[in-house]
Amino acid sequence: MAMRTDILRQLGQQDQPWDVLVIGGGATGLGAAVEAASRGYRTLLVERFDFAKGTSSRSTKLVHGGVRYLEQLNLTLVTDALRERGHMLRNAPHLVHDQQFVVPAYSIFSLPYYGFGLKVYELLSGRLSLGRSEILSARSTLEKLPGLIGDGLRGGILYHDGQFDDARYAIALLRTFQDLGGTAINYVEAVRILQSNGKTIGIQARDGESGAVFDLQAKVVINACGVFAEETLSMDRADHGSLLAVSQGTHFVLLRSFLAGTTALMIPKTADGRVLFAIPWHGATIVGTTDESVDGASIEPRALVSEKKFLLDHITRYFGRRPRTEEILSVWSGLRPLVKKSGVKTSQLSRDHTLLVSPSGLITVTGGKWTTYRRMGQDTIDRACEVASLPKLPSRTLELKIHGWTMDSNGAASEWERVYGSDLPMLSALSSEENGLNALLHPRLPFRAREVVWSARFEMARTVEDVLARRTRALFLDARAAMESAPAVATLLARELNRSEGWRAKDLADFLKVAKGYLFEGPE
Ligand SMILES: Cc1cc2nc3c(=O)[nH]c(=O)nc-3n(C[C@H](O)[C@H](O)[C@H](O)COP(=O)(O)OP(=O)(O)OC[C@H]3O[C@@H](n4cnc5c(N)ncnc54)[C@H](O)[C@@H]3O)c2cc1C
Repeated sequence: MAMRTDILRQLGQQDQPWDVLVIGGGATGLGAAVEAASRGYRTLLVERFDFAKGTSSRSTKLVHGGVRYLEQLNLTLVTDALRERGHMLRNAPHLVHDQQFVVPAYSIFSLPYYGFGLKVYELLSGRLSLGRSEILSARSTLEKLPGLIGDGLRGGILYHDGQFDDARYAIALLRTFQDLGGTAINYVEAVRILQSNGKTIGIQARDGESGAVFDLQAKVVINACGVFAEETLSMDRADHGSLLAVSQGTHFVLLRSFLAGTTALMIPKTADGRVLFAIPWHGATIVGTTDESVDGASIEPRALVSEKKFLLDHITRYFGRRPRTEEILSVWSGLRPLVKKSGVKTSQLSRDHTLLVSPSGLITVTGGKWTTYRRMGQDTIDRACEVASLPKLPSRTLELKIHGWTMDSNGAASEWERVYGSDLPMLSALSSEENGLNALLHPRLPFRAREVVWSARFEMARTVEDVLARRTRALFLDARAAMESAPAVATLLARELNRSEGWRAKDLADFLKVAKGYLFEGPE
């Protein structure tokens, strides 16, 4: 694995333009980068914070067609996404798995209505179906969803969808890209779009660690900046017009006891017409999400009072009691980049992706879903080939195995260990390198000290937050436990990255400041 300093030196010494330069290291940018590198183009990706620091680590963790879009009769979106779900499951079985969901029916009409809808959902996935949907009695529904309120329950509908670990998938895409010969760097920001005769010829970049500014030339530049895509478009031309509506979604992570068992709950229509999930994830329960239109984008969005109230009210309604503060382990929010349509609410805006080619040749790709990242990458690179007159090479990603691919669990002791796939034996071997590396970081978390070392050596982690939020998922699973384990993580990371005590203290303080925002504070 190349060191960061080597990558920066290599960037400074390039005398040939890159074939493809991608700005943004979320699902969309990583997907486009893997698509380009797998076709054989010399590809560079720059990310101004960490890979998946934005929306791509804050999803509901579903690999799905979207039952909601079925109700909106957006059959093309559902069918395409279901097809992609099948490919993700096949190409990354260590990161994506089949998850059973149950929709509880509290009225006699909802049983056939949702039963029919979910049968159509199953049929639309064709031979990539994950399993049959079934109508359940009220008793079987409660057996599958212990903790669910039983009053007035008529039955339920069981169906299958995919579930994954979003940030780990992003890191696996990063490794796949590197395996294919691509170059990626985090903490490097695009600060200007370089143009010559009105055409985009590269970017000016700033290294967030040293502050150094340098130019990077490319035949084609892709703006995959998610909710920040308009900011990047403004560097291209001031008068680009308004493209995105931003919608925020918040999740609570609750103790697993709220949803004992392995089945997830799906409420297709809350009192105000939203979809709500409660899903088992790495030993806890995720509940979400909301859909609130917000002004502008920020990298660390915070839950709104209205969102917390909505989640608390609905947990109380479906689980029969309001969770106590100490039972809400983490609260996180993400921002959806939705392509605007006048007069349409954000919850009704399409989740399809949009490709825009500016007159300068800058390509902007936005919208879409995590589940459709591969298809977005394919469409983007097809367009990039036309814009930059690159030799036409066919897409290979439909069958491309994602880094760590294995059909064998390699002795994984938990759902967490499975995410390392074929790397797990190498990771486990680290435990024998030094006493203490096998120790858990915290008694409430499944992560070990060896994962910190691994993240720094092989996954480009640069900060305590990179380790605790996206290489492991500590911050998303239990914010207080993540804060308690942070001093030990900072010590290990400082040693691994050869950093000073001063760096350690500052990075720890920076993490604790961010992490505080994930602690639950009551809405009143
Ligand atoms: C609450 C919520 C729940 C969701 N749940 C699901 C789900 O369950 N399943 C599903 O399929 N989809 C889901 N989605 C959608 C999915 O998460 C997004 O479509 C996807 O993550 C968007 O990825 P992205 O790469 O476009 O954006 P991002 O992940 O935000 O990435 C953009 C990146 O660009 C970087 N960047 C910005 N400006 C610059 C610059 N100047 N220089 C360098 N880098 C820059 C940012 O730092 C950021 O990392 C959900 C979305 C939300 C908000």
